[in-house]
Amino acid sequence: MPPISKILIANRGEIALRVLRACKELGIASVAVHSTADADAMHVRLADESVCIGPPQSRDSYLNIHQIVAACEITGADAVHPGYGFLSENARFADILDAHGITFIGPTADHIRIMGDKITAKDTAKALGIPVVPGSAGEVLPENALQIAREIGFPVLIKATAGGGGRGMKIAKDESEVEEAVSTARSEALAAFGNDAVYMEKYLGKPRHIEVQVLGDGEGNAIHLGERDCSLQRRHQKVWEEANSPALNVEQRMKIGEICADAMRKLKYRGAGTIEFLYENGEFFFIEMNTRLQVEHPITEAITGIDLVHEQIRIASGGGLSVTQAEVVFSGHAIECRINAEDPRTFVPSPGTITHFHAPGGLGVRVDSGAYQGYKIPPYYDSLIGKLIVHGRTRVECMMRLRRVLDEFVIDGIKTTLPLFQDLISNQDIANGDYDIHWLEEYLARTAH
Ligand code: ADP
Repeated sequence: MPPISKILIANRGEIALRVLRACKELGIASVAVHSTADADAMHVRLADESVCIGPPQSRDSYLNIHQIVAACEITGADAVHPGYGFLSENARFADILDAHGITFIGPTADHIRIMGDKITAKDTAKALGIPVVPGSAGEVLPENALQIAREIGFPVLIKATAGGGGRGMKIAKDESEVEEAVSTARSEALAAFGNDAVYMEKYLGKPRHIEVQVLGDGEGNAIHLGERDCSLQRRHQKVWEEANSPALNVEQRMKIGEICADAMRKLKYRGAGTIEFLYENGEFFFIEMNTRLQVEHPITEAITGIDLVHEQIRIASGGGLSVTQAEVVFSGHAIECRINAEDPRTFVPSPGTITHFHAPGGLGVRVDSGAYQGYKIPPYYDSLIGKLIVHGRTRVECMMRLRRVLDEFVIDGIKTTLPLFQDLISNQDIANGDYDIHWLEEYLARTAH
């Protein structure tokens, strides 16, 4: 692969800014793309060049492959960084860029395809030696569902093979619920993804969500950068993430990390990826792999000191990994709070103009955000407006710092999720690291007023 000289960032918001910063540090020219609604956005202001790619609706702009390829050709960009969301896990996009001689900063289209289909992903994971949730071998049909459910044991979860964002999932607690759960899951999956194929898994009662960050060079070298605990979720959306997981010790971390790195070596995986698990009673169960950078990647950067976007660009340029597994040093603890323009209790979106914006600072504090005073948040996109990442030598120090930093952060004019984090930082279960994937919803229900 030729070295990269100009990167087009096919995204918006904080992640576009994040990638832009890496380009600047590496001395690579950057091109921002934006919809008409984002003409004033920070990623557009800071990029070397920018191209308007269409009207506000994502399908006409940030998801418009032809416009993005045309923007590459107009600006002479020789590579595209897709960020997360939008086209980041679109195999067709990777194929089209390839056909145009433009480098896709990510894995091969084949690997995106394999991991994008959950049944194939699970089969692949299993074959690579990764532990998976007990479940159906392949697709579940209305006629074989009951038999399969009996073999797995109740409760079971019916999931869409094309799934994403927690849609198309249905629980069946006992035999009487199987038929209905399968047919609802199939019709939801068809409506959401245009594919009605579903599969079945054992439903785990009180798991944690723990995911492993991996990096591969595409030639059979791969490393892991430890795990992130993303158990604090609402409607399957992550809210607060930690590295390392309060639930794992060093041996457990290195064991699951090595299983994942080894699987990526066998797969000859290229780029950054995340292998997601549910973790219960000391056991890991693979649920899916994301073949892209994730929102919560900065907590891994905080504890390893490794810039994941630098690594992605280096790998895409053919430069391989900058570190070996033995050189990866884990240091301290990091927490990320997702700051959404939403009501902190109902999570109803709160777009509007930010009248006052003051970001905190100090040792161990990072704010990734495209927001600024006077910024008008457009109503067309997801409500994440920033991420607060705090690092400390220990989890206790990290929590103390986070409490101070939350007091300092001011965002006026719109509602944000900041007050929720101020509540959580004073909670005893959170202080103890004692929570599972249901904890946050139960807490919100318990403390609703
Ligand atoms: P999606 O791609 O739709 O996000 P995932 O497979 O990643 O689907 O699952 C999303 C979330 O659903 C998980 O983080 C977890 O909270 C829950 N979940 C998924 N599979 C199971 C299972 N077998 N048992 C219990 N909860 C599950």
